[in-house]
Amino acid sequence: MDSKLQEIQKMIEKMHVELLHLQFVDLEGTLKQLTITVEQLEDAVDGKIMFDGSSIIGFAPINKSDLYLQPDLSTFSIIPWTVENGYAEARFLCSVFNPDGTPYEGDTRNVLKRTVDHAAKMGYQVYLGPELEFFLFQVDDKGKPTINTVDQASYFEPAPYDLGERVRLEIYRTLKAMGYTIEASHHEVAPGQHEISYKYADALGAADRATTFKWVVRTIARKFGLHATFMPKPLYGQSGSGMHVNVSLFQNEQNVFYDEYRKLQLSKVAYQFIAGLLENVKTLTAVTNPLVNSYKRLVPGFEAPCYIAWSASNRSALIRIPAKRGAATRVELRCPDPSANPYLAYAIIVSAGLDGVERELTAVDAVDEDIFHMSPAERKRRGIASLPASLEAALALFEEGHIGLETFGEHVYNEYVALKRDEWDRYRTAVHPWEIEAYQQKF
Ligand code: GLU
Ligand code: MG
Ligand code: MG
Repeated sequence: MDSKLQEIQKMIEKMHVELLHLQFVDLEGTLKQLTITVEQLEDAVDGKIMFDGSSIIGFAPINKSDLYLQPDLSTFSIIPWTVENGYAEARFLCSVFNPDGTPYEGDTRNVLKRTVDHAAKMGYQVYLGPELEFFLFQVDDKGKPTINTVDQASYFEPAPYDLGERVRLEIYRTLKAMGYTIEASHHEVAPGQHEISYKYADALGAADRATTFKWVVRTIARKFGLHATFMPKPLYGQSGSGMHVNVSLFQNEQNVFYDEYRKLQLSKVAYQFIAGLLENVKTLTAVTNPLVNSYKRLVPGFEAPCYIAWSASNRSALIRIPAKRGAATRVELRCPDPSANPYLAYAIIVSAGLDGVERELTAVDAVDEDIFHMSPAERKRRGIASLPASLEAALALFEEGHIGLETFGEHVYNEYVALKRDEWDRYRTAVHPWEIEAYQQKF
């Protein structure tokens, strides 16, 4: 028998696991789960657990809705907050399969797997280190989130100003128990805003971890009577929450972005990857920044990018090359936000960069000045374009580009466009409080 499975069975016995949650994500990256009893472990591992996919966003039509879950054994984990009175619950992240055993085309985890396979065919292993920021808000007496932040602290402030320290500590302990290597944590720039960073992983592992991270953060916040949100811009006039994605490519255990003899110690492949990201970024923002609200974060002055440029240092640039070299050489894409489906976001980011490698594109010069303070004329002169300013603009560019369809396949591509078009239409036709305030009295 599979040694990983034996290890899992031992753990199940030791911890008296009663229930197993078979988790997967929908088109938006929202976590879903089907709970089975531990007696069904073998059937689950054999991919025999069926479910009805017709009510999952972006999944199967009602006439073809029988789907199967295939747990990924490497994602097994005891759920720390369920360990109680000598019993526990555990979870697996799963991929979704058709009744004929082929990978289900609507499952975004399968999309990322295909991208990873494509990279492997080119000879590369992809490693990703995302950095997810989030806010903690108070809830009202009915348990509904308010817009009151849990504290008024600012960047790197300690307690007693930072009132999220206990929550972050508990999140840290929980993630550690689930196998994460936590690197650092701090209060972020905005009131009630936090970040906890953990070690990078292979692309699929990174998306699994980002998905789990969001679930853990929300759950632990609830234990403290708070609401955690990964919404990109909850507060006007304050920093938003990003999900910077650090990417590196490896070949035979060597980081191929590093070349000690070239400019900035970046290899030819690194420059091509940067060029691919720059060329395709307009196509991918509809995925890395998927909400109407995402575009309210991408404005000047809050360390979130809005212009298409790269730099070795500059935090106003879209792509930054963090100072570390050697095995830690990486390219940081700063536009993504944590409301994105990590599987889709990472798939399209990797495709965009690899497109530059495949086509041997040349990166334009780096921009090391503060782009937020450049005049529009200066930006024009230097050929610095802007990121799309709305979900509508981003969607139009997504449909114009080629990597969306190539990376996602027809099913996910079509479902994604339809979902986002509908979202934009609902926003466009709604009357917002801002309009009432600005117009009702005056006109
Ligand atoms: N909160 C910023 C953003 O929206 C990022 C700040 C940072 O560099 O950590 O992307
Ligand atoms: Mg940060
Ligand atoms: Mg960063």
